Amino acid sequence: MSSAPLRQARIDLDAYRANLDLVREWMDPVAVMAIMKADAYGHGLEPIALAAVDAGIRWIGVLTVPAALRLRSIGVGEDVHLFTWQHDPDLDFRDAIDSAVDLGVSNVAELQRIVEAVDQRPARVHLGVDSGLHRDGATPADWPALVELARDAQRNGRIEVVAAYTHLAESSDDEDSAAVAVFDAAVEIAEDLGLDVPMEHVAASLAGLERKEFRKDMVRMGANLFGIPGADGVSAADLGLEPVMTLTASVAKTKRVPVDTGVSYDYTYRTATETTLALVPVGYADGVPRLAQGRIEVAIRGKRYPIAGRVAMDQFLVDVGDDDVQTGDTVVLFGTGEHDEMTVLDWGRSLDTIGEEIVCRIGARVPRVYEGHEVEGRVGAYLRGERP
Ligand SMILES: *Cc1c(COP(=O)(O)O)cnc(C)c1O
Repeated sequence: MSSAPLRQARIDLDAYRANLDLVREWMDPVAVMAIMKADAYGHGLEPIALAAVDAGIRWIGVLTVPAALRLRSIGVGEDVHLFTWQHDPDLDFRDAIDSAVDLGVSNVAELQRIVEAVDQRPARVHLGVDSGLHRDGATPADWPALVELARDAQRNGRIEVVAAYTHLAESSDDEDSAAVAVFDAAVEIAEDLGLDVPMEHVAASLAGLERKEFRKDMVRMGANLFGIPGADGVSAADLGLEPVMTLTASVAKTKRVPVDTGVSYDYTYRTATETTLALVPVGYADGVPRLAQGRIEVAIRGKRYPIAGRVAMDQFLVDVGDDDVQTGDTVVLFGTGEHDEMTVLDWGRSLDTIGEEIVCRIGARVPRVYEGHEVEGRVGAYLRGERP
């Protein structure tokens, strides 16, 4: 009897480390900020961050102040800069400033709230430019006022301007070039207004790989480090990157059914012959889209089988024909691709999305299990519940 767990996401910290080393080698001498928003793209923030810090990473991007404070609380020290750029409108910035959390700021009102929260030490601020994505970032119209406030607050010792940054639409080469020109003009305006900009960061995974001239002083990399590069038609393996997450389950039950049996809700799948159905205990609550039939195949004993019928909240079925599939057999939903299973990039393509969306949606009910030599070190201590 096999004892494969009902469902789990195996996180290979050695793969994360290998990706990190490769990306740093490519970017050298430009600094790499490892992006870990959304619970490290669903891989688990704390273990990924500790692995990155052990590997010598000195910049981590976590989106929010509470996530940054979680990392400080598990011993990620101030030699590691923690960049945040999406702030709750009611957030009290005092803890962030006291813990030297880097704050991305794109509007005057927010910068004013930060300046007012300063007590013992200056707030570390990165000024955001909207170069065309129209998310956060100050528009060209709002930029001079933001710069002037930052300049004055820095002169008063209340903030330290660390950098200017923007984020690109990754739409086309020409449009990205135009966006970077908008950013460059904003930096020039800042310098003309008497604000020194010590550092610039613009590129994420895709532009960092493909547009060397956009690397500036630092690139912000998420997807590449998780082994899910976004370049069209390029696989992780082509680049030498390894997918970090492998999603598996175990066959919960098998059932012999006659020809023309309707399967799962709505009977969207009917068996073509007498066949065996295998029940896989992973559903849309765990991040497998309800409409995955016809798009996703899972691997059992090294062979691919299509999802049969609607994915339910907690389970789906596969049609395994007359093959010898047994209760307890391991089902690989996605992995490295080495054993002929689909990769998360394949899932993204098949489901009309990107790999990032797939890994971010793997539900909290799926235990993350950490593997790799890193679990011996600080990550291991953390996972055993030891706190600094
Ligand atoms: C998500 C994000 C990144 C990382 O993007 P990837 O494409 O995953 O490398 C970088 N910068 C910002 C502002 C982001 O929101």
